[in-house]
Amino acid sequence: MAGNSKKAILLIIDGLGDLPTPKTPLQMAKKPNLDRLAKNGMTGLLAPVKRYVVPGSDTSHLQLLGYEPSIFYHGRGPLEALGLGMDMRNGDVAFRTNFATVKNGRVIDRRAGRIDTKTAGALSRNLSMKIEDVQVEFKNSVEHRGALVLHGPGLSHNVCETDPHELGPVHECHPLDASREAAKTARIVNRFTEITGGMLSAAPENRKREKPANMLLLRGAGYYEKVPSFTERFGIEAACVAGGALYKGIARYLGMDVVIVPGATGDRNTNLRAKAQASVKALQDYDVVFMHVKACDSAGHDGDVEGKKRMLERIDAEAVPILEKSGAYIIITGDHSTPCCRKAHSGHEVPILVCGKGERTDGVTKFDEISCAEGGLGHIRGKDIVYLILNLIEKAEKYGS
Ligand SMILES: [Zn+2]
Repeated sequence: MAGNSKKAILLIIDGLGDLPTPKTPLQMAKKPNLDRLAKNGMTGLLAPVKRYVVPGSDTSHLQLLGYEPSIFYHGRGPLEALGLGMDMRNGDVAFRTNFATVKNGRVIDRRAGRIDTKTAGALSRNLSMKIEDVQVEFKNSVEHRGALVLHGPGLSHNVCETDPHELGPVHECHPLDASREAAKTARIVNRFTEITGGMLSAAPENRKREKPANMLLLRGAGYYEKVPSFTERFGIEAACVAGGALYKGIARYLGMDVVIVPGATGDRNTNLRAKAQASVKALQDYDVVFMHVKACDSAGHDGDVEGKKRMLERIDAEAVPILEKSGAYIIITGDHSTPCCRKAHSGHEVPILVCGKGERTDGVTKFDEISCAEGGLGHIRGKDIVYLILNLIEKAEKYGS
């Protein structure tokens, strides 16, 4: 499509990079479309945040979208809350939450027996409330997950988590500094935990559950502060297509529009065709579309080599041809490596490819961690990505005269 000749799609495959055991999932996957784009374009290796630094998905995406995390990252909670469509104002504090099962003050299941989304939704009614002069808003998302926002004056994110991250005693929230704000926030969190604990224990939905969802555990405290939008900073309009709340939240934080795609779930069953079609359609209204696919990272965390390979093959077959036909520049990379053998993020670089009409090529013909090391982009950094895109679509401002 000629109308897209100065547009770009940035596809971020979460946890893309891996280690060879003896081959990487990317090397093993059948991916003729990704290989063709690598052959027709330029490739390289990307250090998403800094070389050898192990990135979180949150800090990495901020960096890839041009927002230095040391300045713009204020914790995970607000990004999750924004991703759930919750309203946040300057000074608000937010947490990620888990429905959990607690017995005699001890967490015996951090996911409340893998509670389903429908039951969690029913339990979530009436859990928002006013405590002192703070409006406490709760929203559940998928299964045990959710977010909590504290709206009000004099709050601080510098408080400890109530989630012990393992089975054992629940942590009381206490302030991590001597400020009045941290003391107030901890007091409100503890009161909220106490009230909701009582409500949940009495809820009819919990009566028949072997593992009742009788407590909300809090983690990932952060504060919200409005940042200059992506358009203000880079002079182009951008939209996001994603399933996971975090990625939608990051986009909203940066003032990007989020395209809601039915079937985009953020898990292995996500509708990749629908996401790719929505990304291409969005090019009519935006200069750049950021499309996110989560499941390769989840497979990496599970140590599931076969699952990661299969997901890469699905992306290749179902999404890449649609993106390619758009006529826009295509940039494909990851936000970090999640090697299956480590079941965790690592600081290894991730492959990147850039392909589009009139662009340069190199001698690389395959898209994987080893082949892309030979590519013409060399070793690039997350903070280069926005400038790479601006240059591709001829929207870069000249530096000097
Ligand atoms: Zn990630």
